[in-house]
Amino acid sequence: MSDKSMKTATKIVSLGREKKYSKGVINPPVFRASTVVFDTLDDMRHAAKHKHEGELFYGRRGTPTHFGFQAAIAGLEGGAGTALYPSGAAAISAALLAFLKAGDHLLMVDSVYEPTRDLCNKLLANYGIETTYYDPLIGEGIQALIRPNTKVLFVESPGSITMEVQDVPTLARIAHEHGMVVILDNTWASPINSRPFELGVDISIQAATKYIVGHSDVMIGTATANAAHWDKLREHSYLLGQTTSPDDVYLAARGLRTLGVRMAQHEKNALAVANWLAARPEVDHLRHPAFPSCPGHAFFKRDFTASNGLFSFVLKDGSSDAMQAFVEGMDHFKMGFSWGGFESLILWVNGIQNIRSATTWDSSKPLIRVHIGLEDPEDLIADLEQGFARYNQLMGR
Ligand SMILES: *Cc1c(COP(=O)(O)O)cnc(C)c1O
Repeated sequence: MSDKSMKTATKIVSLGREKKYSKGVINPPVFRASTVVFDTLDDMRHAAKHKHEGELFYGRRGTPTHFGFQAAIAGLEGGAGTALYPSGAAAISAALLAFLKAGDHLLMVDSVYEPTRDLCNKLLANYGIETTYYDPLIGEGIQALIRPNTKVLFVESPGSITMEVQDVPTLARIAHEHGMVVILDNTWASPINSRPFELGVDISIQAATKYIVGHSDVMIGTATANAAHWDKLREHSYLLGQTTSPDDVYLAARGLRTLGVRMAQHEKNALAVANWLAARPEVDHLRHPAFPSCPGHAFFKRDFTASNGLFSFVLKDGSSDAMQAFVEGMDHFKMGFSWGGFESLILWVNGIQNIRSATTWDSSKPLIRVHIGLEDPEDLIADLEQGFARYNQLMGR
């Protein structure tokens, strides 16, 4: 049965569970190894030759636990192969280092995940790699920023915190006209809500820590490449010594099997909460890609099949005390960063203007980011209503 003949829900359940990975049980078991031993030189040579096709060769190159999960993610994202990393951040650094060298120039979206910005400014800069940040809504304007030494275009859509949706096909087309590699942080879409390779990207990254794991208890990252870039990505990741624990991979693969139903419920709950928020007098606008108030909403409608539980909303105003009272007294929303689990989260994000350089942010309007979990949305709305009551009291309303 080929991947192409299956619908997404079937792929989520079936890919990477073939007998060569599972050995006949349902979930490919935790297969631990450092040393792989051979009886004959011929066996050793055979394994060396086929080490990229699922033959056991050396622990760092993975075991059937890894191979099954890699096959599942590659199949879902639609790429030629998937490399695994101990975190999403490690996947991002490995992908960038595979395609950049001293003297190169990188185009990085301004609304990128903050640790990715830090990587560029604090590490890549020291390696002689220069970064220019661009407006997530730049579109065709990207052309003007490309130099002879620009080698990589990095996109993240929607952007972290501020949620701008990018015109990825246009950006990728222009980047390819200049021979650049296009790397996408595809974490928000997960492997099921967009078709990154059909949009023109070369590498699609997942912080699998988020929705793939789905239970807030494992760190893991993936980078999936198209055929033209897979060998280089795999080899560079190996050179960097990247490896993942089979226990963590097992949990990620276990989480993956329910990704479809979880995502559908996150989306439904988040839309219920977002619709309620949109009608609140305190709310200036929603930064939810499925709402017209979100910059780049038209690209969301064109390039994504669904949304999820993560979005932001901007208030018209709010003192520090009022914002603190809003977010501190919640029953169900806990304050925390790493989203994508079954539980709801809330963050009052301060200082966005400090992590933007190609665009400006009006810091007088407070932004709250929420992750809507699998609780009943009525309980979540009641929790937010209490938050607004505490906020309004301190705002003297
Ligand atoms: C969380 C996140 C990451 C980093 O993933 P970790 O597994 O926490 O390192 C990268 N990109 C985006 C968009 C994220 O939300």
